[in-house]
Amino acid sequence: MEAYVGLGSNIEPRIRFLIRAVHGLANQESIQVNAVSPVFSSEALTLGEEEQPDFLNAVIRVQTTLNPVSLLDACLRIERDLGRERALEAWAPRTIDLDLLLYENEVINSKSLTVPHPRMSDRLFVLLPLSEVWPCDRKLPGFTSTLRELIDDCEDASRPLKTIITLEKYE
Ligand code: ATP
Ligand code: CA
Ligand code: CA
Repeated sequence: MEAYVGLGSNIEPRIRFLIRAVHGLANQESIQVNAVSPVFSSEALTLGEEEQPDFLNAVIRVQTTLNPVSLLDACLRIERDLGRERALEAWAPRTIDLDLLLYENEVINSKSLTVPHPRMSDRLFVLLPLSEVWPCDRKLPGFTSTLRELIDDCEDASRPLKTIITLEKYE
């Protein structure tokens, strides 16, 4: 099965955390990483006034024999291994965040898992790296818009910048 995972980090060393997460997935027998987007940089979303360090984000395509719940579990395990602490408030700084964005053409709405990721269409820091590894003229599962249309219509005022960092170079 083909799936897409979004990666984000805003605690240094951010690039190392992204690389270690990609390796953490790729090292599992049931998961192959077959595309890695360039890294994008953007300001953190916050709920309050306080500033947070900028994020680095990327999206990877994986081939997997795991079902969606098991793939999310694998992601959450890697977050724990990399020292992710879940703060009480939403959107706190994190060493690593792994979100299951897409799983085949599936639309899943269970208690523990929503796919496509429920907030991805609002976020350019997800849509832009996704567009580097997923066809822009394809409609997202459960959506009537193509990825290109979602990007063009996205009201996210942040402007994620494509960096020259590609995670493969740092393996
Ligand atoms: P956001 O979800 O807005 O990006 P976040 O990534 O900071 O915020 P987390 O604390 O990482 O939120 O995730 C909260 C819970 O969301 C996870 O424990 C997980 O069980 C659940 N969840 C549901 N669907 C997904 C999905 N598609 N990808 C990742 N987590 C999901
Ligand atoms: Ca997230
Ligand atoms: Ca998450």
